[in-house]
Amino acid sequence: AAPGVAASGGSAQETLHRVFGYDSFRGEQEAIIDHVVSGGDAVVLMPTGGGKSLCYQIPALVRPGTGVVVSPLIALMQDQVDALRALGVRAGFMNSTQDFDERRVVEAELLAGELDVLYLAPERLRLGTTLDLLSRARISVFAIDEAHCVAQWGHDFRPDYLTLSVLGERWPDVPRIALTATATEATHREITQRLAMPDAKQFVASFDRPNIQYRIVPKAEPKKQLLTFLKEEHEGDAGIVYCLSRNAVERTAEFLCAQGIEAVPYHAGLDSGTRALHQSRFLREDGLVVVATIAFGMGIDKPDVRFVAHLDLPKSVEGYYQETGRAGRDGMPSTAWMAYGLQDVVQQRKLIQGSEGDEAFRRRAASHLDAMLALCETVQCRRAQLLTYFGQDPTAGSCGNCDTCLTPPETWDGTVAAQKVLSTIVRLQRERGQKFGAGQIIDILLGRRTAKIIQFDHDQLSVFGIGEDLAEGEWRGVVRQLLAQGLLAVEGEYGTLVLTEASGSVLGRQREVPLRKEPKKAAVARSAAKG
Ligand code: ADP
Ligand code: ZN
Repeated sequence: AAPGVAASGGSAQETLHRVFGYDSFRGEQEAIIDHVVSGGDAVVLMPTGGGKSLCYQIPALVRPGTGVVVSPLIALMQDQVDALRALGVRAGFMNSTQDFDERRVVEAELLAGELDVLYLAPERLRLGTTLDLLSRARISVFAIDEAHCVAQWGHDFRPDYLTLSVLGERWPDVPRIALTATATEATHREITQRLAMPDAKQFVASFDRPNIQYRIVPKAEPKKQLLTFLKEEHEGDAGIVYCLSRNAVERTAEFLCAQGIEAVPYHAGLDSGTRALHQSRFLREDGLVVVATIAFGMGIDKPDVRFVAHLDLPKSVEGYYQETGRAGRDGMPSTAWMAYGLQDVVQQRKLIQGSEGDEAFRRRAASHLDAMLALCETVQCRRAQLLTYFGQDPTAGSCGNCDTCLTPPETWDGTVAAQKVLSTIVRLQRERGQKFGAGQIIDILLGRRTAKIIQFDHDQLSVFGIGEDLAEGEWRGVVRQLLAQGLLAVEGEYGTLVLTEASGSVLGRQREVPLRKEPKKAAVARSAAKG
């Protein structure tokens, strides 16, 4: 068998220069690679764009044999293999997209020792035939990419990952390296436990992404706000816009196109040909905007994504961090922008209540949402809050590159406003036996004689019109923050508002309710944003 151009058993440093053409290692890459090359197991937590791939590709080249990379990203394997081959690395993959002949070629190369790197879909390792095949080959290292997929409560859980502990049992002498960009303590622990890597050395890189500017604005007219954001700050830039539903994805992409911004949709409801086309256009073209559900993005390596925008609230801080992390992998200034409003909170709470999961699942989903809401409503530095969430100490109290640092939000004493909202709900329930959603409650407070107000005689309530001191947008802000703080809850398919146990302390004047002031103009000054 012909030796590869790349694999020559050189040192890690030498391989970095010769094969990948880079001058030096980044961050902890060198320590990780040295550890794995010398046969140690490693669990690596590194943010998206941090450079995880080299951490297993170089050991695969330096150690004798084939490096086996387990990855759930079947759609990207061909691209990854092509990229490695272009560098002279002998790479191949095995997954369900191949026919019998193609797979046989790869198997033969593996057995002949002609592969430096083999990408493998996790479901293949359930098959005895695959395990036997690997037993007949010489394996240099096992890399388990996107290792958080083993975490049963995570949003990317893949049952096949649970079988990966077999690797340590069958190949006790082959080092294993598990990698993920998801960083919470709990996920970390689950990876170590479920992959049975108790002795693995832990490498935790900083999760700070200083070049990403975090901004969360109150949602009023989301599509228009998005358009202004794009026109003022990211004209001609490549970026991703995330929406919750396929429908919203389609409508937003059409809207942007109609406004002269080149945008394509991406969601699981599109046929695979269209999805592949839009993905490859995004990777290859300059300045294309992809409007997508969260189905888009995992494993996509495009360095110059200049912005990630959310038109709907992510379900967790982990999701938010991972999605926004796709911006600015090249280290250049980038923006993570989100529009967030009352309807998001109502919708997400409803989704959780209506979900199929058991009580434990719902509790966990609710606590994930609460953390996300806390990030949205904070008056402190968003970056500091993010890093603290991931168990990392922020280096400074304020970063100077998020909206709350650039334009510190004002707070106000919302105790009386909160009491007005809560007592309106109490009255409707006690006096009329009725429950309503936020819209009707706010109309009552504002003293509006809408058809629905007249129909229900709500203008006869003693609380009718007691809230004329605030504008509608401000009331929506009050209700949203009460929901976020757990002082109010939503119920049922119509999202009606109900009190919580904590509401009583507000009505009984035992506690104050500091609220974040709704900014008159949501935008951060351009100069500051570009800073
Ligand atoms: P991750 O998998 O952690 O998201 P990648 O491995 O895809 O990150 O790396 C992100 C980008 O950084 C890639 O374009 C990669 O080529 C580049 N990169 C990684 N390590 C280095 C390095 N030591 N020097 C220069 N560029 C690097
Ligand atoms: Zn900040």
